[in-house]
Amino acid sequence: MVTIKTAEQIALMRRAGRVVAEMHEFCIKAAKPGATTQDVDAVAREVLARRNATSNFLNYHGFPAVICTSPNDVIVHGIPSTTVVLEEGDILSIDCGAIIEGWHGDAAITVPIGEIDEESQRLLTVTKACLDDAIAEIVAGNSLGDIGHAVESRALAANFSVVREYVGHGIGTAMHEEPQVPNYGVPGKGMRIRPGHVLAIEPMINAGTQETQVLSDGWTVVTQDGQRSAHFEHSIACTENGPEVLTLPG
Ligand code: MG
Ligand code: MG
Repeated sequence: MVTIKTAEQIALMRRAGRVVAEMHEFCIKAAKPGATTQDVDAVAREVLARRNATSNFLNYHGFPAVICTSPNDVIVHGIPSTTVVLEEGDILSIDCGAIIEGWHGDAAITVPIGEIDEESQRLLTVTKACLDDAIAEIVAGNSLGDIGHAVESRALAANFSVVREYVGHGIGTAMHEEPQVPNYGVPGKGMRIRPGHVLAIEPMINAGTQETQVLSDGWTVVTQDGQRSAHFEHSIACTENGPEVLTLPG
């Protein structure tokens, strides 16, 4: 069932979203050459504690951290580790989540570590644009196919590929609610979006093949060809006045 959130409930989700945005602010500062992905997780934990928020990632199906850190060819679900040291020229997806009074926020950003090559920068720029295009489609009466098509068409026009095994989702009192929101689709097809729907939209765009593989840790999803992948995400409410991104700084 796809739930409709009230204005009061969306206000709580906005508070959770602000905590997520603050986690990103501190994680981005921590994600420097020489830092480990565990160092990035540590600052995210500090923000959660300071804001009296709880983690929706920690212990989710046994996940051991409060953020996912996914460098280079890791698409999503990378586990923060003391043995993963960030290097100049890397890219890193930082996926953060928080719960306030039972309501969830979820957002991701992919950042450059120091100076990166031109093609990696293009991958980040295009993936962010895929998300922005998708957000613009979160208008009452539009369909999930409109969202997916917006992501897919921009990615393909840039000669990148779209991950199909992992998708966006509804969000509310659980991190993952119905509906699933694929990053591909046919305009006009699929569920119609209504005011009060809240969706986490998260394009995962690969420089090479769309094929994915899960490593033996059961979490880390990588590109099959070893090329890089980028991931951007926001939690967004459909309102009478169009989309409202909830995972923004306060
Ligand atoms: Mg998500
Ligand atoms: Mg996420």
